[in-house]
Amino acid sequence: MGTAFDHTTLGQRVVFGTGAAVENTVAAVLRLGAERVLLIAGDSATATADAVAAQVPIAVRIREVVQHVPEADAAAAADRARAADCDAIVSIGGGSATGLAKAVALRLGIPVIAVPTTFAGSEATDVWGITDAERKTTGTDPLALPRTVVYDADLLAGLPGDLAVASGLNAMAHAIDSLWAPRADPINRALATEGMAALILGLRALRAAPADRDARELMLYGTYLASVAFASAGSGLHHRICHVLGGAFGLPHAPTHAVMLRYVVAFNAPASPDAAARISAAFAGAPAASALFAFEEELAAPRSLAELGLAQDDIAHAATLTLAAVPASNPRPVTLEDLERLLHAAWAGAPFERGRP
Ligand code: NAD
Repeated sequence: MGTAFDHTTLGQRVVFGTGAAVENTVAAVLRLGAERVLLIAGDSATATADAVAAQVPIAVRIREVVQHVPEADAAAAADRARAADCDAIVSIGGGSATGLAKAVALRLGIPVIAVPTTFAGSEATDVWGITDAERKTTGTDPLALPRTVVYDADLLAGLPGDLAVASGLNAMAHAIDSLWAPRADPINRALATEGMAALILGLRALRAAPADRDARELMLYGTYLASVAFASAGSGLHHRICHVLGGAFGLPHAPTHAVMLRYVVAFNAPASPDAAARISAAFAGAPAASALFAFEEELAAPRSLAELGLAQDDIAHAATLTLAAVPASNPRPVTLEDLERLLHAAWAGAPFERGRP
């Protein structure tokens, strides 16, 4: 059979303008005709949020944003927005702020204008996540897809270097996991491949010179492409593992992705020649997995799951939880022993030769 696929492109407006976040956000609110805005922005986005609030009608403002969207926070935010009859949401911040906005949008059916300040990429997906009693539930819904994304590389000028690296590797994970995810197709593979190349260049430049504005722009470009690919392709083995580590064991989102990615690539790349070739091409022809190990070393990325707080005794349970979620599309069959080996290597931060699962 020849090539056959069924691809959906999500509809979203993207406004990219360095130094223009406030102006572009205000214009996006006006364009939606919103008159009672719910503004969500944590501490790191206070100045931008204040400037937006001075120019658009804010009915409710939420300043506390925590990771993984606790159900109680989502319900409380939705109640406040409903009581104030909010007609749009502006979220300024990382994936946690975007996530809270999505949770309210789902409940109220009102549009989100997302203004990202990390490379998490949630702004470009229709994926939502809620955590209740230590269990993280995710799903997709058109209502969760922000109507407009406002990118401004200046908003990331204060992102601490280690966080920028971890977050950028979270974006890399969107690109790479898309290559073998359940709905991988030629369109999302093309987006992932271009996104990955931009992120590699951007991360190197950003690590060398944190003030480099062009590098931050390149990173946001790569972040967006990688997330569009991920939203289209669905979550592969890497995301299934990280979902368990974050949801059931409370590990921090971006650093967990940063640690796990190289081990998943070492596991999957030999069974996926197309993915291996794309990753290798992005690293100037070096073999995919060893190149990624070297790249993360060069970036001084988070090294091990142990340093992120996973107890060694939890590995068996994490492997069991993950096994049930392994996608049938994975290029290599995955056993419980495989997952345990993979998690042990990542837990210890084993180098490539010893960490190869
Ligand atoms: P985050 O939003 O929790 O931000 C991490 C920390 O960085 C916070 O303390 C925040 O205040 C600070 N910060 C953010 N931007 C900053 C800036 N520009 N300068 C200085 N400090 C800044 O973390 P994250 O990694 O961006 O997002 C993680 C969350 O997003 C998780 O809950 C994850 O599940 C979700 N997520 C969802 C999707 C999706 O498609 N639905 C994709 C990726 C991540």
